[in-house]
This record gives sequence, structure tokens and C-alpha cells, in this order.
Amino acid sequence: MDIHQTRTWVQAIAAAMDQNRDHLTQLDSAIGDADHGVNMQRGFTAVGAALDGFQAAGVGEVLVKTGTTLISSVGGAAGPLYGTFFRATGKQLSGPTADAEQLAAAFDAGLAGVQKLGAAVPGDKTMVDALVPALAAFGESARAGESEAVAAEKAAVAAETGAQDTTPLQARKGRASYLGARSIGHQDPGATSTALVFRALAEVLKS
Ligand code: ADP
Ligand code: MG
Repeated sequence: MDIHQTRTWVQAIAAAMDQNRDHLTQLDSAIGDADHGVNMQRGFTAVGAALDGFQAAGVGEVLVKTGTTLISSVGGAAGPLYGTFFRATGKQLSGPTADAEQLAAAFDAGLAGVQKLGAAVPGDKTMVDALVPALAAFGESARAGESEAVAAEKAAVAAETGAQDTTPLQARKGRASYLGARSIGHQDPGATSTALVFRALAEVLKS
């Protein structure tokens, strides 16, 4: 993945958040406060503006800028969590390109940042339930010597499955946890937006 593809990925995430704003907000209205779609749209719109004219010498700089902008522009839990994911991922990537194995290691650092900040583990009904299977699939594919495009496609499918699999879970972190057993039967909004992030990566890398 080069700098141009990294920018294109972030733009593709912004477009996906625009398109899915109402869906994400609907999911958050069932088990949260109905702002997840608006939060993600606002955050990635701000990222688009911040990257416009931003000169980056490396893939990592684009991702760190993305994360910093999300942290500063999104109120709500998901902004700092996604911001940390992109910042911690970007900090691992110093060159003008990143191969599949470098990306896999960097994404793992991103996940570690999310878990350090939010203390969620798989099964808590959060974005971690999409991130963990996505990064496991990405890493396995990368270690098998497959391209970033193949790794990203497998990650996107795993994230989508992980998001769907949050439906029967009871939330143990975030606002949805206040609902207790009433959170069961609804797909988690943050896991759903994570699936959009990896679907965008797969689309960008395959073209
Ligand atoms: P808020 O909950 O503050 O309104 P959002 O609606 O934007 O923020 O984001 C909600 C999403 O954030 C949840 O669906 C969940 O996936 C994610 N989330 C909340 N708390 C945590 C946490 N501690 N760790 C990981 N993800 C979390
Ligand atoms: Mg919310």
C-alpha cells in the first residue's frame, strides 16, 4: 500500500460513512444514543479536510493524521477509539509503502491501542468483535505470503461476519452495556462501522 492508496482508503471510508450514516445511527438508536452514524460522518469529513493539502512522506503519517483528526473532531466513544486505532497503526509505518506483513503488524498495534483505551475484549459487543477477526484474517493471509489485496478482502469478510455475530451478544462495554440484557438482539454499531473500514480497504487495494 502506498501513500496514494492510503489516502484513497481514507476517502473511501469517508464515502462509506456518508452512505451508511442513517443505518449506523439506526443501529445506535436501538442500543445507544443514535449518534454513531453522525459521529463517523463528522469525523471522516474532518479527516478529508485535514488531509487536503497535507504533505505526507509516508503511509504512517497519513494514518496518524487521520487518527489525530478523529480524536479532535468526534465526541463519543468511537472517535477516540478509532482515532487511537489509526494513530497507533500509523506510528508503526515509517516508509512510503507498506507490504502485507508490515500492515498486519501495524494493525495489531492499532488494536492493542483500542483495547488499552477501551478495555474491551471479544464478546463484549463492541468494534473489537469486528477488529479481532479482521486482523486475524489479515495476519494469517499476510503470513501465508498473500497480497495486501487478498489479505484485505479476507479481513473485510471476517469483519462483516464479526459484526453480524454481535447481534446475540449482551453488551459489556460502552453505552449499550447500560441496557443489560436488552442489548441482546441488535447488531453493534461500532462493529458495523469497522466492517465498513475494512470493506473500503479491500475495495481500494483490489483496484
Ligand atoms: P457513544 O457510545 O459515546 O455514543 P458512538 O455511538 O459513536 O459513541 O460509538 C458507539 C460504539 O463504540 C459502540 O457500538 C461500540 O462498538 C464502540 N465502543 C463503545 N465503548 C467501547 C469500548 N470500551 N471499547 C471498544 N469499543 C467501544
Ligand atoms: Mg452513540
